[in-house]
Amino acid sequence: MNNMIASPHSVLKEVFGYENFRLHQESIIESVLQGNDTFAIMPTGGGKSLCYQIPALVNEGLCLVISPLIALMKDQVDALVIQGIEAAYLNSTQSSGEQNDVFRRLKEGNIKLLYLAPERLFDESDFFLNFLTTLNVSLVAIDEAHCISSWGHDFRPVYLKLAKLKDKLENVPVIALTATADKITQKDIVEKLELQEAKTFISSFNRANITYHVSAKNDSFKQLVEFLNGFKNESGIIYCLSRDSTERTAAKLSEYGYEAEAYHAGMSPEQRGDVQERFIKDELKIVVATIAFGMGIDKSNVRFVVHLDLPKNIESFYQETGRAGRDGLPSTTLLFYSYGDVFRLRNFIKDDGDPDQVEIQTKKLERMAEFGALTTCRRRYLLNYFGEDAEDNCGSCDNCQNKRETFDGTEVAQMALSAIARLKENYGMNLVIDFLRGSKSEKIKSFMKELPTYGLGQSKSKQEWIHYFKELLRQDLVSKTEDQYPILNLNKASWQVLKGNLKVTMNKPITQTFATETVSEETYDKLLFEELRSWRRDEANASGLAPYMIFSDATLKQLSTYLPLQHSDLMQITGFGQVKIQKFGMEVLQIIRNYAAERDLSTRMHLKKGIKSPVVKKKTETSRRSGGTQDVTYKLYKDGMSIEEIVSNRNLSLSTIENHLSTFIESGDLAIDELVSSENQDLIRKQIDIHGWVSLRSLKDNLPDNIDYGQIRWVVSDVRREVNEK
Ligand code: ADP
Ligand code: ZN
Repeated sequence: MNNMIASPHSVLKEVFGYENFRLHQESIIESVLQGNDTFAIMPTGGGKSLCYQIPALVNEGLCLVISPLIALMKDQVDALVIQGIEAAYLNSTQSSGEQNDVFRRLKEGNIKLLYLAPERLFDESDFFLNFLTTLNVSLVAIDEAHCISSWGHDFRPVYLKLAKLKDKLENVPVIALTATADKITQKDIVEKLELQEAKTFISSFNRANITYHVSAKNDSFKQLVEFLNGFKNESGIIYCLSRDSTERTAAKLSEYGYEAEAYHAGMSPEQRGDVQERFIKDELKIVVATIAFGMGIDKSNVRFVVHLDLPKNIESFYQETGRAGRDGLPSTTLLFYSYGDVFRLRNFIKDDGDPDQVEIQTKKLERMAEFGALTTCRRRYLLNYFGEDAEDNCGSCDNCQNKRETFDGTEVAQMALSAIARLKENYGMNLVIDFLRGSKSEKIKSFMKELPTYGLGQSKSKQEWIHYFKELLRQDLVSKTEDQYPILNLNKASWQVLKGNLKVTMNKPITQTFATETVSEETYDKLLFEELRSWRRDEANASGLAPYMIFSDATLKQLSTYLPLQHSDLMQITGFGQVKIQKFGMEVLQIIRNYAAERDLSTRMHLKKGIKSPVVKKKTETSRRSGGTQDVTYKLYKDGMSIEEIVSNRNLSLSTIENHLSTFIESGDLAIDELVSSENQDLIRKQIDIHGWVSLRSLKDNLPDNIDYGQIRWVVSDVRREVNEK
């Protein structure tokens, strides 16, 4: 670790690559650094981990992290290590050799964060506790602190012993963290852990990036398929009550072409582990599960959660839906509700016997049923349930959306449709909107500026126009093609509107506040996103990590929104800390540069809001990292395989393999003469002198057909190498 790093904010930026703290993170970190016992209550996805990871890195010494989730420890530690943080774990899954290694590193003071299961702390002779007192422990973090309370869901008796740790490590501050919203459990945690004058921080339980929808449960499979249509290629979880229905649903979805598999307690641990692992690695998109699924997973890019059957209480519903959208990007939940389910669950409860429990559980079920039948804001209902106030109208649950104010949108519709007509039904939504708004962008060709509708819609913002076009599409008053970049077409109804024969009623646009980091869904380049995603999958496979540990979806979206082309741009992209810039920066840039070059796109970094000057300016890294997927390619190449053979051997695309080799050319490890004849090099270089290297396409257009993109890329890399060396 770099010793120069000092302030929490510089660690946030330099190590984790994030620009701003989220609500409460900064105060929590400050409280911990002042040596206070601290209690942090935050919903899932709120960002609890940074609250102890940053103090751990700012302080001298070691931070102990107590967590009951053994299955997650390796992932948590891997995710830290890949960011250059010295982290390790100790638990029963390790061999004694591995454990001894950790002990040695602890003694040498070479570990900043140590993850431990609570069981590991307490042995008969207090050997481990005594060992800890010989180390410089700066902080104890107790994750999933609700496990100490018998009121909570996952009571672990061994957590009760944790107060003893406080006695042994006097004066070491403790931070307890939980996502439990329930007040009794919160109070219990403070008492049982014997936190001293703990500073408590309670965040709102509102998951602003999650939207809540409920559908009546009839023909639910058909509705499910319609819903899933909106989530092609995305990860999601579908919860069912019975094992049987998980299997049936998964099988049926597979028939419909979805990658879906069942997960339930009746499967063998190996089978379950396999499903879980493939899901985490983005290899399996949909898991159809009983509630057993999800406890031990930390996957940040779950985009939807569906409940095919009613959960038994609001706590479970909130927890299960909460597995969506930990990365802060918009995510959707759907509950299928029928009174039949309430009836069914009530009978289950009655079977329980214990009259007190029956009464409590029945009350909870009634609240869940109330949620299903609700006609007012669902988000508000959830928040009130957990004792929090909320606005009447969240604007993003089904009830709030359906109750949106409407207006006579005929005139707006006519403007939009005549723009499409004037442009001869040849363009997509973005261009039509720019045209309507009188944009001066180069994409608006001069003939367009002569057309009567140009600039007619200037008074409305781009966002408003997007909303109006979506309204038209939703009401089928305009059609679009199925392409990657869909083109808007007029249909019969459009002409009726244009002729004044059909009135249009539209929902008023709403201003919706998602988590601050989300990028408008409309603007990111989906094709580039897919390229980056497949690069991420290759990279994850090569390093044995889960894709979200390499980069979150939020990072890939920012990349495909802002198209960073310069190395220094990467610092402004969320999730790029110094180590990740060094490890992955060149590769990611290479992909984006090529993508942009082939399509004549320029960077959009100037559109990125909140760009700050970097905390520390580092010299630009152009060095290539080692041990990655590029090296595999390089080795195969050096072993004499042809490019075509490498493509089929590695099952990667040609352009990926070409990019891999490009980095070696740019770093000077691979001579261009091996790949491109000197005659072709000369031809390509001449064109680079004329056109520059930003647009590979203009180079290609001006070269003989037998010179392919690969050769052009490689020569460009060689020219870059020369420039770098100067
Ligand atoms: P929790 O443990 O509260 O569920 P995590 O600590 O796993 O949440 O954080 C959720 C996600 O949000 C992670 O991907 C994390 O890296 C990211 N994150 C946390 N804090 C910030 C921040 N200040 N800026 C951007 N992303 C953040
Ligand atoms: Zn609402």
